[in-house]
Amino acid sequence: MIETKNHLHRYFFLFAIGFVAITLLELAFRQVAQLDSSPSPLLFPAMTIFLLVFHIMVAGFMLMKYFCDKKHLYLVAIACAFAGSAIMMLGTLNSFPAWFICHSTTVANYNDAIIFFTFRNMMMAMLFTTSIVLFHQQKWAARGAWFHTMVVSGIILFTLMMLLLAYLYSSFNPTLDISLVDNKTHAFTSLWNHFFSWLLIALWTMTLLLLLRITQLRSFFWFSGGFFCICYIFTMLFLLSDRNSDGLAWYQARFFETTSTLFIIFTLLYDIFNLYRDSQDKYLHSYQNSIRDPLTRLHNRSYFYDTLVRQLAEASPLKPVSIIVSDLDRFKRINDTYGHLQGDKVIQFVASVLQHVIRLDDVAARIGGEEFALLLNNTTAEDAQHVAERIRLTIAGHDATSSQQQLPESITLSLGVYTATSPELTAEACVERADKAMYQAKETGRNRVVVWKE
Ligand code: GH3
Ligand code: MG
Ligand code: MG
Repeated sequence: MIETKNHLHRYFFLFAIGFVAITLLELAFRQVAQLDSSPSPLLFPAMTIFLLVFHIMVAGFMLMKYFCDKKHLYLVAIACAFAGSAIMMLGTLNSFPAWFICHSTTVANYNDAIIFFTFRNMMMAMLFTTSIVLFHQQKWAARGAWFHTMVVSGIILFTLMMLLLAYLYSSFNPTLDISLVDNKTHAFTSLWNHFFSWLLIALWTMTLLLLLRITQLRSFFWFSGGFFCICYIFTMLFLLSDRNSDGLAWYQARFFETTSTLFIIFTLLYDIFNLYRDSQDKYLHSYQNSIRDPLTRLHNRSYFYDTLVRQLAEASPLKPVSIIVSDLDRFKRINDTYGHLQGDKVIQFVASVLQHVIRLDDVAARIGGEEFALLLNNTTAEDAQHVAERIRLTIAGHDATSSQQQLPESITLSLGVYTATSPELTAEACVERADKAMYQAKETGRNRVVVWKE
């Protein structure tokens, strides 16, 4: 029920945006038309060139997205729709030879232009429908390479057939003939007015309804697809309102087409931006997982050693590097008495204390079951001993109540400190010294800090 309501909202939103956009475009267009009621004959071919370039861009984007992820088989149909459309626009351009020589008096073949327009629209609406059906049956995309080859070949064949038909019907080839515009008077014929224009309106309306029904406008991509269909339906309606093929409606039509294509291009850019953001998030997430311990979220052993190696390389008496190794005292007993789960809570509690004690550029790591290591950059042995002492007192000062049951009872830990003042020793040797100091603390009674001495 909630889902039904949601998609009704989206339908409403689409039609509202469509209405507002078309009204604004219409107002803008009237404003421009008032400047000069007889635009240059070169304007139409110029607009066609813009649209052609945009359509090639969309086709390229769609194909690249399909090649990146083969589950988007439905995009091949849209890519072919735009690529085929761009090729047909070359035919349209050829009907206006003036554009190439920038000569405004050359006679244009309006009938050819409208033939290419008609076949272009029929092809696009049908390929959009194919794409929607393929999107609906997305599981088909998993059927393997042979299925992809079959579908892609079918789509390409259909596109080529439409291109061939448009070519055969145009004046470039004498085989077939159709008259949609009288080239002398520039008036639309009744075949266009009573059949083809309505056929195209019906095709785009069916495509829009199918798109709404199947995709329910769940993604921004299909939302822009819906907007595209609405623009084409209105394009056809504007063309119907004009009696002549060289009237203003024709320019208006191209203006609408260009706007809706731009909308699709923005959707694709938005999509790329989203993909980039998603992969960046995933990368950061997996990077953090690779350097952190899952139980405590402290850094892991390998990150600790990597950082230590880097800092040791610059260690000097003026830039000492201190290491504190700590181990919980008699932790086996906690596990045996309260269970492993409670034991884990104790480890997490100690980790949170360590994390709070250190500075931002220090490293706190879990290097063993209940063994932790701190890496304090630019810290003397004396300062490191103070930090270790502070940690020891903080942990020992907590009980079950003050730790909000994280600790079942008070616990203690033993700590060993080693400070390197030169890059002489390896990272392993430095940690071993801190470890030895920690074992000395264990042997001399636990719950204490021992600083390693030669
Ligand atoms: P000591 O004072 O000598 O350190 O005594 P101890 O009992 O703490 O001895 P030791 O450090 O050798 O024991 C570590 C115990 O920590 C053994 C193991 O059961 C427990 N342990 C290790 N990893 C985990 C963990 O991830 N969760 C829990 N709950 N226990 C762990
Ligand atoms: Mg222990
Ligand atoms: Mg231990």
